[in-house]
Parts: sequence; C-alpha cells; structure tokens
Amino acid sequence: VKTDIIIIGAGPVGMFAVFELGLLGLKAHLVDILDKPGGQCAELYPEKPIYDIPGFPIIGGQELVDNLMKQIEPFEPTFHLNQMAEKVEKTEEGWRVRTDDGLIIDAPVIVVAAGGGSFMPKKPPIPGIEALEGRGVAYSVRRMEDYRGKKLIIAGGGDSALDWTMSLKDVAEHVTLIHRRAEFRGAPASAAQVLGMAEVGEIDFVVGQPKAFEDDNGQLSGLIVKTADGEKTIEADAFLPFFGLTMKLGPLSDWGFDLKDNLIPVDTEKFQTSQPGIFAIGDINWYPGKLKLILSGFHEAALMAHAAKKIIHPDERVVFQYTTSSTKLQKLLKVA
Ligand SMILES: Cc1cc2nc3c(=O)[nH]c(=O)nc-3n(C[C@H](O)[C@H](O)[C@H](O)COP(=O)(O)OP(=O)(O)OC[C@H]3O[C@@H](n4cnc5c(N)ncnc54)[C@H](O)[C@@H]3O)c2cc1C
Repeated sequence: VKTDIIIIGAGPVGMFAVFELGLLGLKAHLVDILDKPGGQCAELYPEKPIYDIPGFPIIGGQELVDNLMKQIEPFEPTFHLNQMAEKVEKTEEGWRVRTDDGLIIDAPVIVVAAGGGSFMPKKPPIPGIEALEGRGVAYSVRRMEDYRGKKLIIAGGGDSALDWTMSLKDVAEHVTLIHRRAEFRGAPASAAQVLGMAEVGEIDFVVGQPKAFEDDNGQLSGLIVKTADGEKTIEADAFLPFFGLTMKLGPLSDWGFDLKDNLIPVDTEKFQTSQPGIFAIGDINWYPGKLKLILSGFHEAALMAHAAKKIIHPDERVVFQYTTSSTKLQKLLKVA
C-alpha cells in the first residue's frame, strides 16, 4: 500500500490528524492493534463523561470517538485494525511500516499517535502459553473464518468473551465458554443470552480456571480446566482467552527514537521527532510543558499537518484558510 501518511495509533489524536491532513489534501492510512478506532476513550472509558473538550460542556468517551469518525468521513481514511505496527524502516522515498499481519505500507511521512502505547492482551498464567501462540492460542479474532469447523474454547467473563461466544458458535464446530464463576462482568443481556445458549446445548459453559495445555506436535489439542469437582480435559483446536487489555510501549521502543521516560521527544513547532519525516503527537510525545490532554493532541495534529504537507509537496504553497469561509476547504469537506 502507498499513501501520503501512515498514522500509527487510531486514538482520538490519530483520528483528528486525519481531519487536519485531509484539509491539506493529504490521504492517511491508520494502523491500530485494537479492533476499533478511539484508543483510550473507546477502550478504557466509553461511557465516562469528558468535560474539557472545547465547545462540548460534556461528552462521553465513545460519543467523542463517534463524532470524530463523522468529522473525518469526508477524507475517507483507511483503517487497518487488529494489527500491530511492528517495524518502521527507512526507504529511498520515505518510510515503510510493517504490521504483524504482513501488511506493508509506504509513505513519505509517518505520524506516531501511539498514546500510552499499544493495547496488549493480558495473558492467563498457563505454563507454555507463549509456545502455542499462533498454534491454536490467540488473544483476538482477526478473521472469523479461521475458526470454521474448529473445536473452540473461549475464556473470560467480559463483553469480548460473551460477544465472541455468540458470534463464533455458528462458525466453529463447537464452542466451550470457561469462566471462573457463573456471573459475568459483561452486559447482562449478553450474559443471559450465552447462559440460555448453554441451557439448550448450543454451547458448553464450564465454571473453572484454565490450568494446562495438551498439544500434538506443538499444536494445541486440549485444555485442562480446574473445576470445583477436580480437573477436566476439554479437546480444543483453538483457545481464545479474553482477560482484558493492558497498555505497553510495544515495538516502538525499537524504532530508533531517543526516548525520554518512554515518550518520544519532539519539537514544538512541527512535533517532529529526531527522525525527519516522522512526527509524534498526542500522549506519546514529550516536550517541555506537555499536558497529556486530548486538546493538546488536537493542536499538535494541526501543526504537524502543515509541516507534513511541506515534506510531501515541497513545491506547493499552502495558504492559511478558515473552514467557515474557504470554498476550497468546503469542497474537501464535501459541504460546498
Ligand atoms: C480514565 C481516563 C479518563 C480520561 N479523561 C480525560 C479527560 O477528561 N480529558 C482529556 O483531555 N483526557 C482524558 N484522558 C486522557 C486521554 O484519553 C488521552 O489523552 C488520549 O486518549 C490520548 O489520545 P492518543 O490518540 O494520543 O492516544 P490513545 O488514546 O492512547 O490511542 C493510541 C492508540 O495507539 C495504538 N497503538 C500504539 N502503538 C501501536 C502499535 N505499535 N501498533 C498499532 N497500534 C498501536 C493503541 O492501541 C491505541 O489505540 C483520560 C484517560 C483515562 C484513562
């Protein structure tokens, strides 16, 4: 894939960067490890009210994300979700990002909007789990088709475990849901639906804790579960534990930035890093006086966009314009 800008991180700041870049006629591709845009707002506090977004006396975390999606719609950004931006490499024409799903994106400019780092799955403490990752064990569903005809075990009591149990029961040969108790953290309506499915035998529900794996030549073949009555072995080709997410710096610590307390230092004119053509905006950057606020990230996105434009189209003169009065901007916004 070739584009103008690769944005690593589709949190509120990465999303708003699409808007500022779009006003300058630049196209963006966004990569995020989450299965949805919105970063911390969508993942950590979708229903909490935010009181310090200019112009919105009160707005919910997910509501802000939904509004941002609407605002950037005219610029048709491409989202590559469920993918970790793993490698950043210099090319003759600019930069290349490789994701852990095999995607390669080339662009003259990269914007790192990685917030508090990438959301990583919390792994259950089962011996040997890492050796079985990609060999039956996974922490997210990239393609439902991968589970067609499989004997699947899902573990967890939150919305992800419940939602995927409901979605995959018609794809997999058989689904077993494991949770340490018969009460769930997830939405009560989903919990009731899943327990109903177990009652009529559409799925199995086991109260217990995953304890050990069985494998066949390094490929998952079963899971030993500790239950109130002892131990139980369940045959499985696939195991999906949904035990929540934690934020970790992730691969960006290897991308050659001179990190300061795990943050990327930038200048305050362009928000460019020590590597020309790579910018860092939002919670991931550091400069004297930095405040980790959404509004700071929005401001940084606007200045970054103007600097990126000069790298991508060095011969084009950019005239500063207002959206209220510029027909050119209104055409880009598809309102004129
Ligand atoms: C409970 C809570 C309440 C808050 N309340 C407020 C408030 O009232 N007002 C306010 O201004 N701020 C508030 N904040 C802070 C605000 O949420 C952050 O400032 C904001 O989310 C930063 O946006 P961002 O886009 O920079 O990063 P994030 O929202 O952290 O998004 C970064 C995204 O990058 C992705 N990512 C990182 N590395 C990679 C990689 N290598 N590959 C793929 N994806 C990657 C992550 O998965 C994530 O989705 C609050 C935060 C919390 C936790």
